[in-house]
Amino acid sequence: MSPSAVTQFFWPPVIDGDYLDAARKRCLLVISIAAAIIGSLSGWRNFDASFAAYPVQTLIAGLGPLVFLACPVLIARTRNVRGVAWFFLGFSYVGFVAVAVIAGGMFSRSTFFLLPWAVMATLFLGWKEGVGAAILVFCTYLVLYSLRGAIAPSVYEMSIDVLSHWLVVGLSMTLAMLITGAAIFQREMELAAVKLCEARTEAVSANRAKSDFLAMMSHEIRTPMNGVLGMAEMLEDTELTDQQRLYAETITSSGASLMTIINDILDLSKVEAGGISLTNKPFALRSFLEQISMLFKLRANQQQLDLIIEIDENLPDHISGDVGRIRQILINLIGNAFKFTEQGHIKIKVSGAAIAGDIDLSFVVEDTGIGIPEDKLDDIFKKFEQVEGSTTRRFDGAGLGLAISRQLAHAMGGDITAQSVCRDGCIFTFKVTLPVATAIDLSPVRERETSIVITQHEDGSPSGTELKTSRIRVLIAEDNDVNRLVMKSMIDDARYELCFAVNGVKALAAYKAAAFDIVLMDVSMPEMDGHETARAIRNFERETAALRTPIVCVTAHAFEGQREKTLAAGMDDYLAKPIRKEQLAAMLSKWTGAGRKARDVA
Ligand code: ADP
Repeated sequence: MSPSAVTQFFWPPVIDGDYLDAARKRCLLVISIAAAIIGSLSGWRNFDASFAAYPVQTLIAGLGPLVFLACPVLIARTRNVRGVAWFFLGFSYVGFVAVAVIAGGMFSRSTFFLLPWAVMATLFLGWKEGVGAAILVFCTYLVLYSLRGAIAPSVYEMSIDVLSHWLVVGLSMTLAMLITGAAIFQREMELAAVKLCEARTEAVSANRAKSDFLAMMSHEIRTPMNGVLGMAEMLEDTELTDQQRLYAETITSSGASLMTIINDILDLSKVEAGGISLTNKPFALRSFLEQISMLFKLRANQQQLDLIIEIDENLPDHISGDVGRIRQILINLIGNAFKFTEQGHIKIKVSGAAIAGDIDLSFVVEDTGIGIPEDKLDDIFKKFEQVEGSTTRRFDGAGLGLAISRQLAHAMGGDITAQSVCRDGCIFTFKVTLPVATAIDLSPVRERETSIVITQHEDGSPSGTELKTSRIRVLIAEDNDVNRLVMKSMIDDARYELCFAVNGVKALAAYKAAAFDIVLMDVSMPEMDGHETARAIRNFERETAALRTPIVCVTAHAFEGQREKTLAAGMDDYLAKPIRKEQLAAMLSKWTGAGRKARDVA
């Protein structure tokens, strides 16, 4: 045996990070060796006198405990701590009881040795086995006591002194077992805690690496997708044969589905990593609900479905919460209702009950679609779960929407539940309790935030009425050739004069050389990135006391906090790639006033 094998034999190693198992093995090993030595020594006491009177019993009492030495060997061989523990406990129980019955009954030594038995069962096997062992020992004592007249008397005079002597022995052994076991467990658990901490740190950094990877991948995928979707959209605006139009539309819709999946996977990984941070800002509830219904009106017309919206009159005007995430949940639920309903109606009911400054909101989305079988109602909230198997599917989607929505709802302290009457449609209910916002909480920034969303979905493109006499000068900082082409094609409007810069340094130089009405700023650019360039532009404006030019960040970075980073860098707004023509038009008109004026007149 090599030295390390000897160490491993007497101090079994931790296997697969199972510190509890190792602690039990070590404890069992120490106690079984101790039991063998103490038991055997106690058996040899008064050997001469005892052997003369009871030779067989004396030999059994002296040699029997040595059987415990089998435990370390069994542990090394089988590594099965429970099996060895049962052997140890079983053998010792039978041994002690047998000796008690043969030599002395209730008041023999061996009954006192049974005292620590329950403690050992707890240490080696667990608390349930420990309780079981304690009950068994208690019952054994009762039986031995009731049979005290029937079984052999003790070979020793059982005076009160002897009795208390053995009681002390039993109690001391119990105590020794407890201390030994506790010390071993304590040591192992401390080590386990250190290892756990290390593992946690590793997991956190691995998770961060995953998030970084996802952020990077999403950026890398979004950038070319911007080209694909932008060009496809432009292509749709040109003269095409029916077949070509079908091809172009297929590119657009497939690209859009791919973007949804990328966004969903990103969202899910953030939620699962606990990385979702909810904002808690006041927003106008009614106008928010109006936007949502406006979003789906067109779709209802297209699908010839009735869209019924019932909003409780008593709802407060403003509430505080993460409007973006609430919107995401509702769009998902209502979007599903449209996806799975061919005829009939979709009803959205919003109600609320006020409780001490809060409101218990309930958003119910009811449809008359294909419904969900009763036994699938829970499964659909799991990741990648869909009622129809992937091979037979008639509907697109990755089965992530509800998983994300429910996790978001949970993060807000709310929940989403589903009810369904198969073939009669289903009802999804999203409940959340949010604080009612007071007038003091409201500030213009939030209104702006809401209006950005309206323009995203409304047709915000200019009506064509030209009001400005001079052209609006737009500086576009974008390093990607295709994306520059996309921008150029999308802003194909005589009112705008475009100037392109291929990196931050060039953009800053261009900005210093001529006046611009708006800057569209990419984030990832060589030499100087968008944030740095924006900061440099703001410094330049301060130094020259020039008027502040709006800077809109156009980025493929979809991670949380992007908006905050953008604003911190001195930019005013944020447009996520892949950008759509109407979003870009709305953004330009919002910050240059062109579209607004044009629309006001129209
Ligand atoms: P996706 O719709 O992208 O597949 P979801 O997580 O949003 O993913 O939904 C999961 C599944 O739940 C859907 O595939 C569908 O089988 C079922 N489902 C969700 N909403 C409805 C609904 N309104 N009517 C019928 N089935 C639904």
